[in-house]
Amino acid sequence: MRTVTGRTDRVVVVGAGLAGLSAALHLAGRGRSVVVLERDPGPGGRAGRVERDGYRLDTGPTVLTMPEILGDAFAAVGADLADQLRLRRLEPAYTARFADGSSLPVHTDGDRMADAVRDFAGPADAAGYRRLRDWLTRLYRTEFDRFVAANFDSPLGLLTPALARIVALGGFRRLDNRIGAFLTDERLKRVFTFQALYAGESPMRALALYAVIAYMDTVGGVYFPDGGMAAVPRAMARAATEAGIEFRFGTSVTALERRGTRVTALLTSEGDRIEADAVVLTTEPHESHRLLGRTPRRPVPLRAAPSALVLHAGGRADPSLGHHTISFGHGWRSTFRELITEGRRMSDPSLLITRPTATDPSLAPPGRELFSILAPVPNLERGPRDWDAEAGPYAEEILAHVRSRLLPGFTPETSYVLSPADWARRGLVAGTPFSYAHSFVQTGPFRPRNLPRGNENVVLAGGGTVPGVGVPTVLLSGRLAADRITGTRRAATAAAGLAAEGAR
Ligand SMILES: Cc1cc2nc3c(=O)[nH]c(=O)nc-3n(C[C@H](O)[C@H](O)[C@H](O)COP(=O)(O)OP(=O)(O)OC[C@H]3O[C@@H](n4cnc5c(N)ncnc54)[C@H](O)[C@@H]3O)c2cc1C
Repeated sequence: MRTVTGRTDRVVVVGAGLAGLSAALHLAGRGRSVVVLERDPGPGGRAGRVERDGYRLDTGPTVLTMPEILGDAFAAVGADLADQLRLRRLEPAYTARFADGSSLPVHTDGDRMADAVRDFAGPADAAGYRRLRDWLTRLYRTEFDRFVAANFDSPLGLLTPALARIVALGGFRRLDNRIGAFLTDERLKRVFTFQALYAGESPMRALALYAVIAYMDTVGGVYFPDGGMAAVPRAMARAATEAGIEFRFGTSVTALERRGTRVTALLTSEGDRIEADAVVLTTEPHESHRLLGRTPRRPVPLRAAPSALVLHAGGRADPSLGHHTISFGHGWRSTFRELITEGRRMSDPSLLITRPTATDPSLAPPGRELFSILAPVPNLERGPRDWDAEAGPYAEEILAHVRSRLLPGFTPETSYVLSPADWARRGLVAGTPFSYAHSFVQTGPFRPRNLPRGNENVVLAGGGTVPGVGVPTVLLSGRLAADRITGTRRAATAAAGLAAEGAR
């Protein structure tokens, strides 16, 4: 594996989102002196927090998977995840609700899930589910160390015996076909393929190897921290400070000072000059390239993932809805076609409805409930729109669907909407918080590299580089960036151990 060259005693990390925090912890644990520069007033980045009318809203991720990877970041500085955060495993992980009125709890425990599938779709699909679970576990075990948590120096890095195993597992077939080899019920298939959207793809186009995401949530489990998702970056920043990492918030990096192919210092909006032996940039890729003064050439431009409109709404409501509900519309193929190919809003929306107060009631005033409703929408490249004008009316439309499907009569006393216009204002590519899609040609060694050419001491991290978008993945990107600076250290999270855990 290639690493940066020269001295690396003092590392400056740009960005205190999850990727930057992870990189900082891993680097400090390996004896580097680390400074983190962040333009926002506090840590978190996309995993943000807004306080409103007594409600505490998580403006970013809601589905937390693979806490072991988070544990590795704490362990890097000798801290224990369990002392830093109280994580609760959600049971069920989700509830899937279908347009025909049926519903299915998605249990993490294999036996409970097989029973639920039997009740829902009959014994053949229950047996199919057990085979699917075994396949997901084997796929995950094969992919994790070699392809997900891996730095690539070239596509030749793919050519390992593990690749042959993935081929044998059917990882290069289409996701929906491969899942269809285990399950016959169309509703059930959706439960194990909708995750393709997290990768910015449709299950019809995505390769089956992306089923690792379904492993992460349906087998590995979904967690929620007391205090909400924003508690995660806050705990990481706390542990980092205790480990001697210096944070400078409210500090935008505006330029890099160079000597030849080395960056020697970072210049900030406050007029400071901060010297560095090595730099980790977790900024959006186009911002990183601007800072580096170089735009990488690709034969085909990178394609951004779809975006989302999120409505956060609080008020009095029936408290029986679970923590995560996936509400599927009638349409399926048409939904992905509209979002990804045609750049149109979903005509019959599928939605992720999260009720964080199901697990931590303190996130809302007493007697009130908090919901976040995520509606996938096209990104601004595929479907340009005036979201500043349209976000409010579209949020009302989405709320009307949620009222009719799940929460009759719900009238929010507070609401807060985030749309592609807001992500664009934060400088996010194509107005999407989900960066570049994970098509095969934009994954692994084909994704923008974390060691940008022409720079001896700069490394990238975050969703725009390897391994990709999402909480566990950007945490891994921080570790991979640290590896590029110090050489590889094997983390405690070994795929085999995790997979054995998940298979139970
Ligand atoms: C609505 C939404 C829902 C999501 N749902 C999920 C989910 O359920 N599960 C999941 O796993 N993932 C989810 N994600 C994705 C996940 O949140 C992101 O992939 C992850 O948080 C990105 O972390 P990051 O550190 O790469 O980027 P960021 O969090 O964006 O961090 C980059 C940081 O760099 C700072 N910065 C940028 N430019 C500069 C500069 N010039 N100088 C100084 N600082 C700078 C920014 O302010 C920011 O804090 C969701 C995201 C959103 C927004």
